[in-house]
Amino acid sequence: MKKMIKLITFILFCVNFLNTAQAFPRNSLKPGGVAIIAVSPENKHKPYVTYKKDPVALIKGKHNWLAIVGISLKAKPGTHRLLIKEKNQQTHYKSFQVKRFNYRTQRLTIRNKNKVNPNRKSQKRIEREFFLKKKLRKTFSNTPPHLNFIRPTSGRDSGRFGLRRILNKQKRNPHSGMDIAAPKGRLVKAAEAGRVIYTGNLFFTGNVIYLDHGNGLLSLYAHLSKINVKKNQQVKKGQIIGKVGKTGRATGAHLHWSVYLNGNAVDPSLFLKKANK
Ligand SMILES: [Zn+2]
Repeated sequence: MKKMIKLITFILFCVNFLNTAQAFPRNSLKPGGVAIIAVSPENKHKPYVTYKKDPVALIKGKHNWLAIVGISLKAKPGTHRLLIKEKNQQTHYKSFQVKRFNYRTQRLTIRNKNKVNPNRKSQKRIEREFFLKKKLRKTFSNTPPHLNFIRPTSGRDSGRFGLRRILNKQKRNPHSGMDIAAPKGRLVKAAEAGRVIYTGNLFFTGNVIYLDHGNGLLSLYAHLSKINVKKNQQVKKGQIIGKVGKTGRATGAHLHWSVYLNGNAVDPSLFLKKANK
């Protein structure tokens, strides 16, 4: 009987441990994936790590400092490397291999033709917003990253990350996020704790919110019908930040959810527990 109680206590301990342990994003060495790479033993000082000149997120693992690196959708298969600068100014490289991955093609028809072939006035706006979005993606705050994401709204997956897009028979950029089909007005939650770094209305994304989760990890919520938060506001994980809509370039009401890491859009599903996907 005593043995039985011990065994049950042990099982409960394990379950509890698994629930509270740091859930990393899944390691996925493909364009649009995330590379988790041990860079320095933990007993050393925290190093400074860059990938293609951009600083990358670092967390303390069990025995090492771990770099959590976002791989661009445009990354070429082959050897990639991180530059590691130790506290004593010594530098060294760490390589990793990016594998080829063929994302599927998605064909969509957009009724508002100006959203596919924008007129001159819209083109000027798109250009301005292109630089704004680029600047936002480069946000890097020194707080440790909050990585345990939850799905920001419930609904069917209607467009996976990375899909090669053909809009009205014309080739466009690959899909930089995950689409969740949901009726207009459904509540949208913050995937993790963070700070609001931008809210506004942009040509393609419509009403949009950018959250900074620390160390270059950002999330974006697009096509919203309502925004409930303000710039610089601190939000908790799961806090209601807006409502689903179809503003911007959208075929119908849905949430477009993007995750950025060191400036690159990465697959948001890598940050969700399997059961939560
Ligand atoms: Zn989308």
